[in-house]
Amino acid sequence: MELTELTQLAGIMVAGAASMRAAISVASFAGRRYQYARQEKKYIAQFRHVTARVFEDAPVQRQKTELLWQGKRKFRVVNRVYENYNQDVCSFYLEPFDGRSIPSFRPGQFLTFSVPVPGQAEPETRCYSLSESPAVRNYYRVTVKRIGAPPDAPEGTPPGQVSDYFHNHLQTGSIIDVYPPSGSFCLEENTEKPIVLIAGGVGITPILSMLNWLAATRSNREIWFFYGVRNRGEHAMYEYLQKLAGHMRNLRMVVAYSEPTNMCRHNVDFHLRGNITEEILRPVLEARDCDVYVCGPAPMMSALGRAFQNIGVPAENVRSESFGAASLVVADTAEVQKPEPEAEQAFQIEFARSGKKVEWSPGDGSLLELAMANGIKARCGCRQGVCGTCAIALKDGEVDYERTPEKTPAPGKCLPCVARPQSNLVLDM
Ligand SMILES: Cc1cc2nc3c(=O)[nH]c(=O)nc-3n(C[C@H](O)[C@H](O)[C@H](O)COP(=O)(O)OP(=O)(O)OC[C@H]3O[C@@H](n4cnc5c(N)ncnc54)[C@H](O)[C@@H]3O)c2cc1C
Repeated sequence: MELTELTQLAGIMVAGAASMRAAISVASFAGRRYQYARQEKKYIAQFRHVTARVFEDAPVQRQKTELLWQGKRKFRVVNRVYENYNQDVCSFYLEPFDGRSIPSFRPGQFLTFSVPVPGQAEPETRCYSLSESPAVRNYYRVTVKRIGAPPDAPEGTPPGQVSDYFHNHLQTGSIIDVYPPSGSFCLEENTEKPIVLIAGGVGITPILSMLNWLAATRSNREIWFFYGVRNRGEHAMYEYLQKLAGHMRNLRMVVAYSEPTNMCRHNVDFHLRGNITEEILRPVLEARDCDVYVCGPAPMMSALGRAFQNIGVPAENVRSESFGAASLVVADTAEVQKPEPEAEQAFQIEFARSGKKVEWSPGDGSLLELAMANGIKARCGCRQGVCGTCAIALKDGEVDYERTPEKTPAPGKCLPCVARPQSNLVLDM
C-alpha cells in the first residue's frame, strides 16, 4: 500500500472511532435520560391519585379509627428497605393480615407496636412514627433506627430491644401486633401559612410524613425543611429527599452535618456544618408568620426551645415531638413572670404489685419515671399520655397531669407516664 493510502485509511479509522464514541455517548446519554424520565414518571404516578382534601377534626378521626380497629391488630411485613448508607435506618412496609382496610391517619402520627422480645415473658411496647403520607392508603410504613448501647455504657449493656428486634427479626412475611395510629403532633391543615419543618436524626420520620403529604396534595405553602444529621452515612432517604426538593418548587431544603467526613460533599450532600442553631433559623423565622414543627433528640429540643424564645416565635406557632421524654418548651413572657412555686411537697407512693414504697418529690418527674428509677418494670409506649399503653389502676389517692392526656384513662385508672401525685398514692404496679 502507498503511504498516501495508509494515511487515508488511518484517517478513516480515527474518524470512525470518533463517530463511534460520539454515538455511544449519545446513546448512553439518551439511555440515562430515558431511565431518569421513567423514574420521574414512577415518582409522579405515586401522587396522581391524590386530590387535596382537608382532614376531619381529630375527635371525628379518632372515633372512625376506633370503629375500624380497637386494641392490637396483626400486620404482615411486606417489604423492608434500608434508608441510609450506614444501614442502621430501615423502613418496614406493613399490610393488615386480615386484608381489611386500614384507617387513614394525620401526617405526623405514629403506630404503637407490641413486640415479643426473645427471652422475655412480657412483650415490649414502643411507638414508631408513620413515615409515608396518608395519601398512601393500602399499607403503613414505619422507619426504625437501630439503637446500640450508649457509648459510655458498661460492657455487656444490651442494645435497644425493640429496634434491634425490628432490624434482626422482622423479615418480609413476619407478623407483628400493632395498635391504631395516634398522636397529636400533626400537620395543621386549615391554613396557608408558611411552614418550617425541623428534623434531627431519626426525628425525620414524622416530618417526612408531613412533607410527603404536602407534596401529594401539591400544597402551595412556602415550605422550609431543616434536617440535622451527623453525616452522609446517617443521612436518611438521601436520594428521595433530593428528588423531592427538585420537584417541589415551594420547598427549600437545608441540610446540616454535625460531623461531616471526607465522603461528605459540601453544597451537594449538605449545606451547613454543625447543628441547626438560632443563627440559622433566625432569618427564616423572623421574616414570616409561620407554623413550626420540630422533631429531634433531647439536646436539640432544649436548644431550639431557647432559640425560638430569643427569636420571639409565639409558643402557639410551635409543635414538637421528641422520641423520649424530652419536650420542647418555648417560654413566653407570661410564663417567665410566673410567681415562684410553693415549697416542694413530697408524697408516699406505694407500688402495690412490686411491694415497694418510695417517696416522690417534684424532681422525680412522672410516676413512670419514679417507677423506673426504682427498678419497677412498667409497660409504656409514647411516654406522652397519647398511646395509653401504660394505663394502670389507681387504688388510692389522686393524681394530676403534666399535660392533658390525649387518651382519657378509664375511671379508676391513670397514665403514669404523664401523671404526678396530688396525695399519697397506692398504684397497681
Ligand atoms: C411518639 C414516638 C414516635 C417514635 N418514632 C420513632 C421512629 O419513627 N423511628 C425510630 O427509630 N424511633 C422512634 N421512636 C423511638 C422508639 O419508640 C424507641 O424508643 C427506640 O426505638 C428505642 O427503643 P429500643 O427498644 O430499641 O431501645 P431500649 O430497649 O428502650 O433501650 C434504649 C437504650 O437504653 C440502653 N440500655 C438498655 N439497657 C441498659 C442498661 N442496663 N444500662 C444502660 N443502658 C441500657 C440501650 O442500649 C439503648 O441504647 C419514637 C418514640 C416515640 C415516643
